[in-house]
Amino acid sequence: MPLTTFKSTRLRSVFIVYWFLLGYIIAALIWWFIALTSQNRLMANHDISVLQPSDTGYHTTVAAIRERERRKETQYIGEGAVFFLVILAGAVFIFRAVRRQLKLGQQQQHFMMAITHELKTPIAVTKLNLETLQKRKLDDEKQQQLIHRSIQETNRLNSLCNNILLAARMEENKYTATREELDFSALVNQSLQEYKSRYPERRFESNLEAGISLQGDPLLLQLAVNNLLDNAHKYSPRTAPVTVSLQSSKEKILLTVTDEGKGIPDSDKKKIFQKFYRIGNKATREAKGTGLGLYLTRKIAREHRGEVYVTDHSPTGSNFVLELGS
Ligand code: ADP
Repeated sequence: MPLTTFKSTRLRSVFIVYWFLLGYIIAALIWWFIALTSQNRLMANHDISVLQPSDTGYHTTVAAIRERERRKETQYIGEGAVFFLVILAGAVFIFRAVRRQLKLGQQQQHFMMAITHELKTPIAVTKLNLETLQKRKLDDEKQQQLIHRSIQETNRLNSLCNNILLAARMEENKYTATREELDFSALVNQSLQEYKSRYPERRFESNLEAGISLQGDPLLLQLAVNNLLDNAHKYSPRTAPVTVSLQSSKEKILLTVTDEGKGIPDSDKKKIFQKFYRIGNKATREAKGTGLGLYLTRKIAREHRGEVYVTDHSPTGSNFVLELGS
């Protein structure tokens, strides 16, 4: 049986058991309420039946018995309602927790598939290029082309490994970010120059304020900037420009990476920062990725008293804003 069929069958049985138990508990609660109120009525009727209508104060005693019956009934309704609400709150809580867990499991499975693919492709391409260089006598230009492509693939492999390792270490709180005075403008510019030479066919435009410095971890910040540049490149047409701007004010530093791709639907603007989350659209399916980049970028931003968010770029595309405390 394929793994996904097995998983969805197991998932269905988990939910069947859950709904059965919840239904059983609620039915038992309703049954308990009916039994108690009818017992209450029987007891009141019995108490009235032993009275003699000729007794003095007969009507007052009957009224008192009925009043007691009503009070008890109100008490049962109150207690039943509280039980019902507690059970409902518990059921909603468990349902959400289980659903979250199952979703994470599913995303992890997609991640493993993506990662296998991501690791295998650059290795296969580089191996093929090296074998071609070894076996054939190629002219200088062809050789340079193959070497350039191999370096590109190795760079991709490198940033992928960095992302995975860092995600694992940050998750276990094993990574301690350093705090050193650094020139953030120079760091952004360096990343930008690397991307320009890696993708010479792409137009990168920039408006970087010089000399912005901050206290931070250069490795983490470089990764965050690279992730944003990488996405802008991956999710927008090759002919459209990617614009990077950097400004600072008294309280914060703003780095904006703008692309002219399809943009991000409102419903996904928060979700894309979750671990392993990838939008289910054509552009994402065609681009390589693991769903870790923005999750890490958010962690890194928060590590630097900042935040990362996305807004729409008009007429098309997105602005990713990395906000850092200055
Ligand atoms: P991935 O490795 O899939 O790129 P990310 O965490 O970097 O993972 O991004 C999560 C998802 O957000 C991507 O899979 C993609 O669907 C969407 N996304 C990120 N950046 C952009 C962008 N600039 N334009 C459109 N969609 C984007």
